[in-house]
Amino acid sequence: MSNGAIIVTGASRGIGRAIAAELAGAGWDLALVARSAEALNELAAELNGPTRVKAWPGDISDWEDVQRITSEVHEEFSAIYGIVNNAGVTQDGLLMRMSPENWRKPLDINLGGTFFFTRAVAPIMMRQREGRIVNISSVIGLTGNAGQANYAASKAGIIALTKSVAKELGGRGVTCNAVAPGFISTDMTADLPEKVQAEMLGQIPLKRFGEGKDVAGVVKFLLSPEASYITGQTLVVDGGMIA
Ligand code: NAP
Repeated sequence: MSNGAIIVTGASRGIGRAIAAELAGAGWDLALVARSAEALNELAAELNGPTRVKAWPGDISDWEDVQRITSEVHEEFSAIYGIVNNAGVTQDGLLMRMSPENWRKPLDINLGGTFFFTRAVAPIMMRQREGRIVNISSVIGLTGNAGQANYAASKAGIIALTKSVAKELGGRGVTCNAVAPGFISTDMTADLPEKVQAEMLGQIPLKRFGEGKDVAGVVKFLLSPEASYITGQTLVVDGGMIA
């Protein structure tokens, strides 16, 4: 196990929560980030014990919050080995009805937040001469989707950001990869109409929706020594949906 903690954003529920549980189980110290302090504190208390797991409530689209959290985590754990930029939102709507405000929200949180945290941890990882950045994109960032122009653009942007960061930081021993999940059962997908869910299931060769742990296992791999020669890549975890 390398030195230093791993920051997991969007850890209060869904995929982020599954990632936090998987990484704590693998022996990592964790700093959990999301806006809802209560859910985050509960999870930190649940996971804390075998390893150190602490909650840092905050908004990833707020640069001040991101800088504050990064420096507090660095002080607490002395080193930051990795970051999993997982927090994200959707604000769906057809292009012709999409307001500038609705366009901006996923861009500010998904892409802006991923940039902010990457920007904040990069100097620390470069000084350490080691670090792992894992960004959660989406298959929608690769395929686009009607009604999700804003979300698709944010997730495609994350892939381009990932490749650029991999090229800039590779020489300092820092890798940067993305994971692109397909349909994963969480709060984000629970509200989709049954008809849409049935159509999506029909497009998945493995004939089931993904679970948070399907994504969490791949994130754990990208943080492991076995993945030390992988950078700039996007691993698709979608049951074969866009194969
Ligand atoms: P979710 O259940 O809605 O959870 C989203 C998480 O992000 C929550 O912990 C939320 O916590 C946090 N978050 C949202 N805005 C934030 C902000 N401004 N600052 C800090 N934290 C924030 O979503 P999910 O399905 O687990 O999705 C996790 C990631 O996977 C997202 O990036 C999503 O785009 C991506 N993804 C999901 C699917 C899927 O099928 N579910 C597929 C592809 C990609 P708070 O509300 O407490 O802040």
